[in-house]
Amino acid sequence: MKIRKLLVLGAGQMGAGIAQVCAQAGYEVLLYDISEKNFEKGIREIKRNLTRQVEKQRISEEEKKAVMAKIQKSATLNDAAGVDMVIEAVVENMNTKREIFAQLDEIAQDHTILASNTSSLPITEIAAATDRPEKVIGMHFMNPVPAMKLVEIIRGLATSDDVYKRVEDITKSIGKVPVEVSDFPGFVSNRILMPMINEAIYALYEGIATKEAIDEVMKLGMNHPMGPIQLADFIGLDTCLSVMEILHEGFGDDKYRPCPLLRKYVKAGWVGKKAGRGFYIYG
Ligand code: NAD
Repeated sequence: MKIRKLLVLGAGQMGAGIAQVCAQAGYEVLLYDISEKNFEKGIREIKRNLTRQVEKQRISEEEKKAVMAKIQKSATLNDAAGVDMVIEAVVENMNTKREIFAQLDEIAQDHTILASNTSSLPITEIAAATDRPEKVIGMHFMNPVPAMKLVEIIRGLATSDDVYKRVEDITKSIGKVPVEVSDFPGFVSNRILMPMINEAIYALYEGIATKEAIDEVMKLGMNHPMGPIQLADFIGLDTCLSVMEILHEGFGDDKYRPCPLLRKYVKAGWVGKKAGRGFYIYG
């Protein structure tokens, strides 16, 4: 069955970006967030991105309006009954995701594919909360979604070949490049990226250099477009901590222990750019 209508859960940094790129590719999108405030913020972010595209003459004002018209507000998970695919992008918490997937399984039609944008949680475990594990898959977009080409596609233990192929096709249809990975903690991207970020935070914690100096070393020395401390702020320090905890627990190896300074910032609520303050302060 052709995918026409999608429900995106979570209108945060990732959900808003996913809704935008899907609508720009012509899909009908319903966007749901448990928080009205975050929903409004997500819609503002999408408008801001599209306005930038108009200013750069990549799209016309009419196209912007048409994209916005394709994104409708969803006020209840029951809307999953009317879509062909759900892409979940809520907080990185296994209990929350399992609860949501169990509910979606009850509500959605049999053909509906349930995808998670989790950064690191096992797809197999999320799928086990449903009676349709063959239709559950990981679709790991990168941040910021409109700009980044990669989508890691993660097969759970039971994900069917048919569902994998359809999700691969959807990924291409929204202008992204799918890369297949197996379901292990952190997949590929965060297995490599997060320990590097955590190590950079350790370097700061141990007083080896200032945050600016650490970022400068990685930008100028390794040609990274953004330093690891700033990147952590952009990703969200809460998400970084969750991923490190999942790697630590999943591999049982202390090389993945989260830096105490990262924990301290998350406890303070200084979780990065989205909160106006992380290691850096944002206006
Ligand atoms: P975020 O904090 O910006 O947004 C999460 C949103 O989910 C919030 O708006 C919140 O109100 C909403 N939410 C929480 N519980 C909900 C529920 N039960 N139902 C509906 N909405 C709910 O977080 P984010 O950075 O967008 O991350 C979302 C997901 O994407 C996480 O699983 C994260 O690991 C993953 N991810 C994040 C990045 C990144 O760089 N930030 C990259 C790839 C994947």
